[in-house]
Amino acid sequence: MTTIRLHNTRTRKKEAFVPLDPENVRMYVCGPTVYDRAHLGNARPVVVFDVLYRLLRHVYGPDHVTYVRNFTDVDDKINARAAESGREISEITAETTQWFLDDMAELGALEPDHMPRATQYIPQMVAMIEGLIAKGHAYEAEGHVLFAVDSWREGYGKLSGRSVDDMIAGARVEVAPYKRNPMDFVLWKPSDEGQPGWDSPWGRGRPGWHIECSAMAYELLGESFDIHGGGNDLMFPHHENEIAQSCCAHPEGDFARYWLHNEMLQVEGKKMSKSLGNFFTVRDLLDQGIPGEVIRFVFLSTHYRKPMDWTAEKAREAEAELSRWRAFAGGIDPMGGPASEVVDALSDDLNTHGAITALRKLYKEGDAHVFRKSAELLGLLTPELGEWTEDDVILHSTLSDEVLRERIVALVWERQDAKKSKNFGRADEIRDVLKEAGVVVTDTPQGPEWDVGPDFDPAKLESLK
Ligand SMILES: [Zn+2]
Repeated sequence: MTTIRLHNTRTRKKEAFVPLDPENVRMYVCGPTVYDRAHLGNARPVVVFDVLYRLLRHVYGPDHVTYVRNFTDVDDKINARAAESGREISEITAETTQWFLDDMAELGALEPDHMPRATQYIPQMVAMIEGLIAKGHAYEAEGHVLFAVDSWREGYGKLSGRSVDDMIAGARVEVAPYKRNPMDFVLWKPSDEGQPGWDSPWGRGRPGWHIECSAMAYELLGESFDIHGGGNDLMFPHHENEIAQSCCAHPEGDFARYWLHNEMLQVEGKKMSKSLGNFFTVRDLLDQGIPGEVIRFVFLSTHYRKPMDWTAEKAREAEAELSRWRAFAGGIDPMGGPASEVVDALSDDLNTHGAITALRKLYKEGDAHVFRKSAELLGLLTPELGEWTEDDVILHSTLSDEVLRERIVALVWERQDAKKSKNFGRADEIRDVLKEAGVVVTDTPQGPEWDVGPDFDPAKLESLK
């Protein structure tokens, strides 16, 4: 069996991945807080962990992997959005959840096996908090319940490699008079009348953010599971707090054994921000006509542990390359399995850049079945992305005029079809006119490629009926 190696944040080493139970490999990834459209940076972990999910399914079998990704549907940002818009919280969270699912589907991401909503797991969170209080790891103060970091100094901070004292010195912590240690974090907080709330042993209130992942991971994956993922902005405090809660509530388990964190995303070399005017959502790009598969390709061209720089140039190049790939292997019913070079690259800590390099080599070699199956392992050229029709395939060209480009593509395809149906007269006629007009068509094992030459004369295309 293929050995997958993963960089584990917890040990800071690349390690051979050995699942607790190869019959049920379990992964949890922190999902979105649903109050707004996903921006481009939100989509990176979705694509990264989708590739890992596909790889795990390939190695262990599709029925032997359980992937959980949550929706945070109780949060003060959601409450604020409801207050400013005058809309119901439930309406906002339902709408945003569906937006997220639609947008991520366009990026070719498979749906996880479970997508728990925080509001559906309140009793489980309350039970976990009660357990933490009973074990001396949490305390109630002024309607709040707080996790006591001093009760677990030996473990707190290990993931991010910081001691509690370092964290107090470096972090912006919310100082509150009722906290025993400034690093203590909220498990439960009181709700006033206008805020969403649930009855609890500590009065009507709502959970803090971190407890939901601990409670839902325990319910759906157990006290020990294999992989926990998310963006590296979540490492501290969110993941550190998840570990503290879970390991103290269920000391018989290890919580997550392999921790994976993706780096952040930039746009044209700069941090994406509303003030710089380079902030956009996934939907903004889709609406500009950039296919989701192109976004996915650009993401995967950079290793997940390196900062990803989104540029318009990369998107253009990716679209041209995917067009060639689609023309080559988009229309077949693929058989067989992926190439070992692609599996090996992905198994080396998700080396997606190396996998794309291997795909380029396969494309040159000309076996459309192996190529297609290998691309699908990266979530490219998959059935989920839908069929690209011939009309979508605009072969790579330096010609910028869209209408002319489509006209030439149509002719190139017509010539292909004519050859296939042995109508060689028509095929030759089209070839001659294209040549006359200065369009250079090259037949490659992957299908025709074309470009315009220096003597391009579009008027001559019109002589063809
Ligand atoms: Zn989480």
